[in-house]
Amino acid sequence: MQLNENAQIDTSQVDDRRGSGGGGIGGIPIPIGGGRGGIVGLVVAVLVALLGGGFGLNAALDGGGDSTGDNTSLEQKCSADDALQQLDCRNTLYVNSIQAYWQAELPRAFGEQYQPSKTVFFSQAVNTACGGADSGVGPFYCPADDLVYIDLSFYRVLADQLGAEGEFAQPYVLAHEYGHHVQDLLGTEAQMRRQQQRDPGNANALSVKLELQADCYAGAWARNATGTADAGGQKIFTSISEQDVQQAIDTAEKIGDDAISERANRPVNPDEFTHGSSAQRKEWFTRGYSSGDPKACDTFGNG
Ligand SMILES: [Zn+2]
Repeated sequence: MQLNENAQIDTSQVDDRRGSGGGGIGGIPIPIGGGRGGIVGLVVAVLVALLGGGFGLNAALDGGGDSTGDNTSLEQKCSADDALQQLDCRNTLYVNSIQAYWQAELPRAFGEQYQPSKTVFFSQAVNTACGGADSGVGPFYCPADDLVYIDLSFYRVLADQLGAEGEFAQPYVLAHEYGHHVQDLLGTEAQMRRQQQRDPGNANALSVKLELQADCYAGAWARNATGTADAGGQKIFTSISEQDVQQAIDTAEKIGDDAISERANRPVNPDEFTHGSSAQRKEWFTRGYSSGDPKACDTFGNG
């Protein structure tokens, strides 16, 4: 993967809330997959269980690293010559690419206008319209405030604890979360929730369909990412290789529900899956990538 060093990084698409003390909400229960307004858009299930309540992640943060803000604002940092060496600036550029894709694609594929959504960078804990969350839940989308949330130290967890290495895991994760934003805009998410209420016995199976669709949307973005540009028309990616795509597929497999259960030494029970098996996640990402068309992502079988 090669990012274009001439591309302008639009930091207005990110809300940098790192180093703001986390809002003092650690320990508040997280309404994952709960009733209305709960967090639905996780990229990975049962991460909290895997990490022992998120403490593993906090320990990693305390170990120091690159994710806490200094006094340089993100905007200044990301306009410097070495911006692409910086994890947060690269991630901002990934967000720019993903949103540029949907800006053009949503009207074309679904006849709907895209509404931009910011990504919130936080450290350790954050307050959202869906409730308080800590880093232990991993990146997520909150439909109540239309924001994507990520503690960038998640990527270290992904690499060190889940074995998903490689830079392209990062845009894959973000593209998955923006897939949930698109589902929110299209009403897919609200429709799925109503179905869950009518048919509680199928709640997990419906969640899996929503998640696999987000993976498929991520694949559609990956296929078209080299066609995305900044506000001035400069390409964001100069190249994406087969190896990059393989890294995304590898990540999708590593965070399959069965893979996570096995890693956490828990029994693998398909009835408890909320995100899909490794094989399913690979299949749907690949379907999005191969077709390059989000209309091929009809996991609900309505098409
Ligand atoms: Zn998700």
